[in-house]
Amino acid sequence: MVKTLFNDDDYVIVDYPSTSSTPHPASKTNTISTSTKTDYLDSISSIIDSLSPVLRPLNLSIHDHPELGYKEHHAHKVLTEFLINRPGWVVTSHAYNIETAFVAVYATQREGSVVSFNVEYDALPGIGHACGHNLIAMASLSAALATQAMMEKEKLGGKVVVFGTPAEEGGGGKTKLLKAGAYAYEKVDINLISHPGITQDGALMRTAAYTSFFVEYFGKEAHAAAAPWEGINALDALMTAYTALSVLRQQTQPGDIIQGNITHGGVKPNIIHAYAAGQFVVRSTTAARRDALKLRVDKCFQAGSLATGARLKVTPTGSYDDLMPNWALGARYREHFNALGGKIEFAELDYEHGATQASSDQGDISHAMPTISPAFWIRSEGPDGEQLGGPHTPDFAAAARRKEAHDKAMMVGKALAGTAVDILSVEGLLEEVKKEYEETKRKSDGMCVDDDDVLRSTYV
Ligand SMILES: [Zn+2]
Ligand SMILES: [Zn+2]
Repeated sequence: MVKTLFNDDDYVIVDYPSTSSTPHPASKTNTISTSTKTDYLDSISSIIDSLSPVLRPLNLSIHDHPELGYKEHHAHKVLTEFLINRPGWVVTSHAYNIETAFVAVYATQREGSVVSFNVEYDALPGIGHACGHNLIAMASLSAALATQAMMEKEKLGGKVVVFGTPAEEGGGGKTKLLKAGAYAYEKVDINLISHPGITQDGALMRTAAYTSFFVEYFGKEAHAAAAPWEGINALDALMTAYTALSVLRQQTQPGDIIQGNITHGGVKPNIIHAYAAGQFVVRSTTAARRDALKLRVDKCFQAGSLATGARLKVTPTGSYDDLMPNWALGARYREHFNALGGKIEFAELDYEHGATQASSDQGDISHAMPTISPAFWIRSEGPDGEQLGGPHTPDFAAAARRKEAHDKAMMVGKALAGTAVDILSVEGLLEEVKKEYEETKRKSDGMCVDDDDVLRSTYV
């Protein structure tokens, strides 16, 4: 529910529901002793150090064969072949009828928890591995193998699962696997992944919720000079909507983003435009706020139709929920990462710095099970140390290929493995992680109600 806090002649300050304004339930309740955690880190570290030279050629092989979403045949082949040749792993290629997805399982015969890692490997059109998914693959793979080695060495119970998740760049491979029941089938307790960038290292990265859709207006041709009154101008409908969106942008909250491009704008100036279309994206900090914003955006498109008489058709083309990081998992990762020489700030600052307006299908995972997707910095600099481009630029594709970036991915893999081994070995930790997940989810679901109220008050 929206509360008006302060009313002056000039402005009203309104308290909107926000995930960052109230202390997080887990921020002060990390009840598990930290004395047992890093005991295994030295072993994990040497395991991954010995794996690194084996993984480096695999990394380069993926990087140097960039493939678009759902077409990652080379990456799928080299990754599954690699895992098939590792003792103890049962690998399912082309999993769940998705040509470039796979599932690899290492199961002990002992009772225990199920930890999982997502492996990404899709690239971007024209600029190759400019999102560094080759590094994500290496971090997750090294972590999974080190977790397996620790389970064997320490006789830990449970299971490790590696999910090969295609098409992160807009194709939603994780969402498809989630909907197909892949995570439920393996009885996954937690899921881990990471992402490179040019911002500082962090355990609690959180991505924005987004939804994309294709908008079409259908009008009627007429001679634009001789008899324009006989036509219905679809481009005018789209321009009216575009103008309404531009006006709406001023009235949105920080973190709300509306983007679009016009893909069809008519055929010739002397014909009234019977067809106009565009692709649009709505993002916000949380899924609830995105859904609320989307309803307001819908009204803008309806306005175009109402003003011109053109028929409106909206086709959804994809949605990712926001990523809600699990603070208890983040605490374990942060501790391991810092023990390895990293410098991630304390939880509240880590969370604050972890916000990005980019979106990922890992967000959907975070609404289904506890997860973290730590951010890791890699060097993207020119010869004189000047900052070069970040993710989705050719500079970053070059940065993601360097040995230094590979080494950083190995460090991330160590901290991820440390987190997974904690789950398998520290009594009560998984319960704490799950309790927090349930609380966060309840709060997130509750926000939908609040935001609906915001919306109703807007339109009533
Ligand atoms: Zn990307
Ligand atoms: Zn990415």
